[in-house]
Amino acid sequence: MGERAIGSPVLLWFLFMIENHKKIKLAKEIAPMLRACLKHCNLCFRKCGVNRLKGQKGYCLSGDRPVVFRYMTHYGEEPPLSGGNGSGAIFFNGCCMRCVYCQNYKFSASDSGEEMTAENLGNIMLKLQEKQVNNINLVSPTHFIPEIVEALIYAYSQGLNIPIIYNTGGYDSLHVIELLDGLVDIYLPDMRYSFEAMAEKFSETQGYVANNQNIVKEMYRQAGELKTVGEIAKKGLIIRLLILPNNISGTEETLEFIFKEMGSSTYLSVMSQYYPAYNAKLHKELCRRIAREEYDSVINRMNELGFNNGWIQPFDSSFDKSLAGENLEFNV
Ligand code: SF4
Repeated sequence: MGERAIGSPVLLWFLFMIENHKKIKLAKEIAPMLRACLKHCNLCFRKCGVNRLKGQKGYCLSGDRPVVFRYMTHYGEEPPLSGGNGSGAIFFNGCCMRCVYCQNYKFSASDSGEEMTAENLGNIMLKLQEKQVNNINLVSPTHFIPEIVEALIYAYSQGLNIPIIYNTGGYDSLHVIELLDGLVDIYLPDMRYSFEAMAEKFSETQGYVANNQNIVKEMYRQAGELKTVGEIAKKGLIIRLLILPNNISGTEETLEFIFKEMGSSTYLSVMSQYYPAYNAKLHKELCRRIAREEYDSVINRMNELGFNNGWIQPFDSSFDKSLAGENLEFNV
């Protein structure tokens, strides 16, 4: 017993040093490759081709420095992410999608946050870790991933040792996700749509569905099913499914895809929290919350397919701002 009491912290420190060294090495290898993507930007599937290194901005309104809207301890994520101490959320400005119903439009459709260096961003990660959060939760990281990886090199070298969550709307480039293999601990992608026409109409994307399915399969290949220590997530994949009214999201078709490709033990987060924010009021199909029958139909299909891991928001839960982070007032 005495030996273990002395040995365990040393062993843990040794394991931490090995893991830390591995992550720094990996981040240093991929950072220049990711930075090179900024020259003809293809960080997301939109592939604007602008030269962000020369100050040009593409669809996401982003240059070559990260712009942070807020960082905070966030208690509204899925239970193993928020846990008791909260998730260390960093909300980035800009987005490579433009969902007409975006709840975060005040920062996703603007570049009004704080532009910073990679070192500043690394210090934010360390500050969140000091608050004993369970993880660093990168919210909409896609368009700033080169700068984020540079920030991680700094933060790891200063002792960052909590899991990294890649929390994305799911319009990332497959080649970028492949590069992140080993660096991201927890993938938290949306699968927003099953029908390309809906994705084009309501999120201004081309090819979202096929690309989204490919990247989620790659995320699963890398991270696998969710693993927890105690009740806190350490590694794995959680897929978010936001049910939209009038079957715009095609959630049941998405469930069938997940079942076929990844199996019924995949962790899902099924969300009923939709409300018509931002420009949803311009689209009559999106001008209401989901109906009871729409919700039941998705849950029944989940049960038929045998999904049994994850979380389902209750139908009648009143909207909770904390669920959507630094969120926003109703605008309709
Ligand atoms: S990250 Fe931004 S600039 Fe780059 S391809 Fe996507 S939308 Fe365009």
